[in-house]
Formats: sequence, structure tokens, C-alpha cells
Amino acid sequence: MDMVSSEAAGSARTGEFDVVVIGAGFAGLAALHRLRERMGYSVRVIEAGTQAGGTWYWNRYPGARCDVESLQYSLAIDDAIQQEWSWTERFATQSEILEYTQFVVDRLDLAKDIDFQTRVSSAVYDDDTDSWTVTTEGGETYSCRWLIMAAGPLSTPNIPDFPGIGDFKGETYHTGMWPKHAVSFAGTRVAQIGTGSSGVQIAQEISKDAAKHYVLQRTAHHIIPARNRPLLEGEQEEIKARYPELRQFWQTLIGATFYQSLPSDPPLVPGNKSIFDVTPEERKEIFDNAWAYGGYGFQRAFTDTLKTIEASTIAGDYIADRIRDAVKDLAVVEKLISSQYFGTKRVILDTNYYEIFNQDNVELVDVKSNPIVRITEKGLRLESGREIEVDMIVFATGFDAMTGSLTRMDITGRGGKVLRDAWKDGPASYLGIMVAEFPGMFIIGGPQSCSALANVITANEQQVDWICEAISWLDERGYTSIEPTPEAQEAWVNRCNELADATIYTKGDSWYLGSNIPGKPRRFLLYVAGYPGYKSETEEVADKGYEGFVLDKAKELN
Ligand code: NAP
Repeated sequence: MDMVSSEAAGSARTGEFDVVVIGAGFAGLAALHRLRERMGYSVRVIEAGTQAGGTWYWNRYPGARCDVESLQYSLAIDDAIQQEWSWTERFATQSEILEYTQFVVDRLDLAKDIDFQTRVSSAVYDDDTDSWTVTTEGGETYSCRWLIMAAGPLSTPNIPDFPGIGDFKGETYHTGMWPKHAVSFAGTRVAQIGTGSSGVQIAQEISKDAAKHYVLQRTAHHIIPARNRPLLEGEQEEIKARYPELRQFWQTLIGATFYQSLPSDPPLVPGNKSIFDVTPEERKEIFDNAWAYGGYGFQRAFTDTLKTIEASTIAGDYIADRIRDAVKDLAVVEKLISSQYFGTKRVILDTNYYEIFNQDNVELVDVKSNPIVRITEKGLRLESGREIEVDMIVFATGFDAMTGSLTRMDITGRGGKVLRDAWKDGPASYLGIMVAEFPGMFIIGGPQSCSALANVITANEQQVDWICEAISWLDERGYTSIEPTPEAQEAWVNRCNELADATIYTKGDSWYLGSNIPGKPRRFLLYVAGYPGYKSETEEVADKGYEGFVLDKAKELN
């Protein structure tokens, strides 16, 4: 498979550090900046890619674009940076975000402490010294007291194990490992497998000039319009002038993001009424406005669309009507209407995705009723015996989410406990940040955190702040290790499960539950009560002297 590869390790600088950070996405960069500049720690970041950017480095597929508004999807760590950088569109493209990341790296002089093209193979805790040894695929070793895992919640690509997968003679790509060279769809026959966020985005590009574009859909997702547009005259300046105040305000919202670019716009959403507190006419008007405005306002237009089946069904029905408006062929319409409850799978933002199915070169293939049984030399074979011959297969089949980036490394904690084994029945953490028997190892964007359900940069920065404050607090008091008690961890997992059970999130199949990966235990992987609740719960633990953690000061780092 052609993809962005982690080339052989470059000039990795083996050594001893106060902190080692794995991953140079936004989380890793924020951690490096804060620990080094504000706290004076020695830090080394280890990154598999050739440059920083994480998700935005690996997911360089055509059409990749963020679905959080650009003026909100940026780091707040340095005011000069947020004032200097200019965005061009309401929702930024992958390439613009990658440029922004490089700008941050250059302005904060971060690259000198990052080892690129270096992939971690293992991390082992030493009980005698309360330290970690991190080893890379190239054989370099790094030791540290504090280890920060910032390898990303959606960074381990899932390629289904179809029989014959190696037989195909054409080109194959996965959206999450897209190559750096240009890939042309012009005049080619392309089969795209998967219609999640990545699939919906790339479909809009493939369909432009492919000779034939087969969209292989297993489950129809709910898709709402982004209404992307260039930023308006004065819009950026207005936000920038009010960044401190607006960033505070956004953090009071469930997703740490607001669904309108201009603060002067009328307050469209989030709505504060139940879908049943309004008349059908009012409901339609509110949905129509949110639909016309674009972005995730639709999802938050009422307080209960993600909470009850009845409310979720009404939102789903509204979308079904919009599909009927957009797509001519009624048989295709029926396939595009999701059978899932609205919101149980991540809702997707699009730009004219449904309309591509009116084109002669695009065919929607339902692979739920007629599954792919084999990849062949020339394409794919379906259960019915139909052969689909193509020049290219694009896997938009998602990720081993929340846990994959951690379980694919050999992480060994206290007493030889391996993380992969500890999580064999489903991941367990305390606060989504630490794991019992893995002392001194902090996770950003880990299971049972709120990260992937919120503006992920804001969520990352909050966790970075929490972790850095914890490290500083521990060091000031001479503690050499910290780990959650099993009881505190169990209580947190139960709390996250209870919160999820009070919503409709657990009523579907999605990567939120690990159900996209065959054999992965079904467990809700996120804290659903929203960013403000997560922030206050984690801060309360810190304010109480790290309640629920065992702190140890018995050992000295050699
Ligand atoms: P995804 O949402 O997990 O979608 C994967 C798709 O592949 C699904 O349609 C899935 O079908 C299909 N699939 C998986 N295995 C299959 C198989 N064996 N046969 C047929 N189909 C199969 O993955 P994603 O689209 O990469 O998105 C993952 C997450 O990344 C998103 O939810 C979002 O959080 C993030 N993301 C964000 C953006 C953005 O900011 N705009 C863009 C891309 C990704 P089923 O639904 O039936 O499982």
C-alpha cells in the first residue's frame, strides 16, 4: 500500500530527560512548549512523521478539512501566534492546518527538541528508579521520569482483513496514511470503501473526475452541511480582538466550540429547549436555520437530540427529507438514509456530498446487504458474485480509535504489566489521563477523556495544563511517582459508562464504542458530559491534592 511511511530513524538523540513526549501533534507541541519554556524542564518529543502535525500530517487525502471553525481550531498557548496567523476559510483545509502547525513550530522554536522519523516501539517502567525507558524501532533509548503519550486518539489506521487483500494489482491507499505525492483520480475507476468523515470528504474529490467512482457503503451516516466559505472582511479581526474573552466563553460550552463565526451574529445555537417544547412549525424553522447556517449547530439545536431516541429520530427524519431534496434516484435515497439513531455515529459535515449521487460516474454500492467477500487482482468481489473492476481502491475505513496508538506499542508498567493486556477487556483509566500500575505515564486524548467529542485542540491544551501542573506540583514536593488507585480508576470508568448510558451514544455502532474493529471489546471510550464538566472534574481532583492517586517519594532517579 502506498502511504506516508515512517522512514528509518534519523538523528534521534538518545539520552535522559525530565519528560519524554510521544507524538508531535498539537498535544505534543503544546506540552513541549509549556514544559520547556514555562517550566524549564528538559523535554524530548519523539515523532514518526517527517514534520509535526499529527492527524494533519497523516490525513493528507484530497478533500481533508477540519470540521471545527478555523478561528476556534487553533492553539491558545501564545497570544502573539494567534494574532499573527491568518486563516482563509471558515473551515480550514488539511494543508492550511499543516502550514499553521509548521508556523507554530518555527515561531516557538520547537523542532530542536523533536526527533522526527522516529517511531517508538516500547516504553518500560522501572520500579526501582521510578523512571521510564522508551525504545524506538531504530534502537535508540530515552529515559525519563515523566512520560506523556500524545500519539493521538485517531491515528492507528484500520484496514479490514479482507481475503485476498494483497492480490490487487492496482493502487491502494488509506485516507489516514495518504502519500505525499499527488494522486490523480482523473479517468480512473476508483472503489472507495467507507463513508465516515474521511470517506465523505474524499468522495467529493474522487467524484469530480474519476471515470467511475464506486462508493461502497456499509452503514449510511448522518451528514449535514458545512457551508464552508471564505472568511468575511473584518471577521477575523473581530475574533482576534476578542480572543481572550471568546476563548473563555467557548470553554463554557459542551464541545468547547461555538457554532457561529461572528460574535455579532444572532445567537443561533446551541439551543436551550427540548425538541418537544416547540411546535412542529417552530422546530422546522429552527432546524432550517441551523441547516442553512451550516456546521454543528444543527446537532445542538435542541437540548435532547443526542439524549433521547424520540428526539434523535426527529432530527434523523429531517435529514432524510433533505436527502430526498438532493438526490434524484429514489432507490439511492433509501440507501443514503441512515438506519442509525442520529448522533450515535459521529455526525459528518459535507459540501454537496449527496449531490454526487446524481452524477453518471458515481454508483452507491450497498455492502451491508451484499458484503465484500474478497479483494481480487482486478478489484473486489461481493457476496452476490458481482465483480467490481477498478484501477484504485481507497480505504476510508477509519481507525482503531482511542486505544490503538497505545496498544500497538509495547508499554510495560509496574511489575511487568503490559498495557495491551491490562486493557484486553476494554480500556480503563482515571480521568482519561492515567492508568493504574503505569506510574508517571500521562495520556493526552486517551480513553475516558472528552477530547474527541470536543474541540480537540482546546481539550488537548486543558489536559496539557493539567498534566504540567501535576508534574510541577509533584516535583516541588519531591514525589517521584503518581498512579491512580484501582478504586478511583474503576469509579471513573463506571462514571463514564453511566454518563454514556444516559445518552443515545451507546445505542449504535461506532468507533466511540470500539465496534468498528472486529473483536475489540465494546465499551464507550469517551467522557460524554462535555468539556466544561470534564475540566471541572479533573481540576477538582488536582485541587484536592490529587485525590484518587497514590503518590510516592521513596525513590530517586539515578
Ligand atoms: P469512520 O468514521 O470509522 O468510518 C469508517 C468507514 O469505513 C465506515 O463507513 C465503516 O462502515 C467503513 N468500514 C469499516 N470497515 C469496513 C468493512 N470491513 N467493510 C465495509 N466498510 C467498512 O472513520 P473515518 O471516516 O476515518 O473518521 C474517523 C473519525 O476521524 C471521525 O469520526 C472524526 O472524529 C475524525 N475525522 C474528522 C474529520 C474532520 O474534522 N472533518 C475528517 C475525517 C475524520 P460502518 O459505519 O458500517 O462501520
